[in-house]
Amino acid sequence: MSRVQRLLDAVRKLHEATPELMAYAPWPDDLSAQQVMPHPCPVAQTMGDRKLPGSRSTRPVIQALRAATPDLEWRQTYSEAEVGAEFLQTYGYVELFGPGGHFRSRKLRGYIGFWGPGLTYDWHAHEAEELYFTLSGNAVFCAHGAPNVMLRTGQARAHHSNQPHLMVTLDRPYLAYAVWRGAGMEGLPKMVAS
Ligand code: ZN
Repeated sequence: MSRVQRLLDAVRKLHEATPELMAYAPWPDDLSAQQVMPHPCPVAQTMGDRKLPGSRSTRPVIQALRAATPDLEWRQTYSEAEVGAEFLQTYGYVELFGPGGHFRSRKLRGYIGFWGPGLTYDWHAHEAEELYFTLSGNAVFCAHGAPNVMLRTGQARAHHSNQPHLMVTLDRPYLAYAVWRGAGMEGLPKMVAS
């Protein structure tokens, strides 16, 4: 089994064991492995040194992520003009499964995203509906029409279609598993005016 397959397996076990994730979307039954070239980013190169304690239930995903990191296609959707140089040094994500992921699915899109401490992921929005599930660390989430919340390890937060949202990380790195469902699943987030 490849390291990326092991990561998928760890994410599947977490997804299936977490009622909030299963209620949001069942684990996709149409996954097929794709040939995806690894692509590093600054975060991937330091992933081994990052303090990501997680919890008992999220630790297998964190360990599998660390192991698979050199084989993953790390992405950064935004330009330096949009988010600044520091953000790009300490942020990156992987589309594990979905329309363009390591495993193809047309039913659900699943990401793992990493943000370093002290970052503001400014107001952005996307058509797809989204559920964030915290794998390690904590972050403050703000969204139009919803109360601000501090999301801790093991906690989830949903955003509806085109709902602008913002995230601030605190003194620790923040690692999340996020799923997208519904219309616009193949799209990208865009920065929006607050
Ligand atoms: Zn989002």
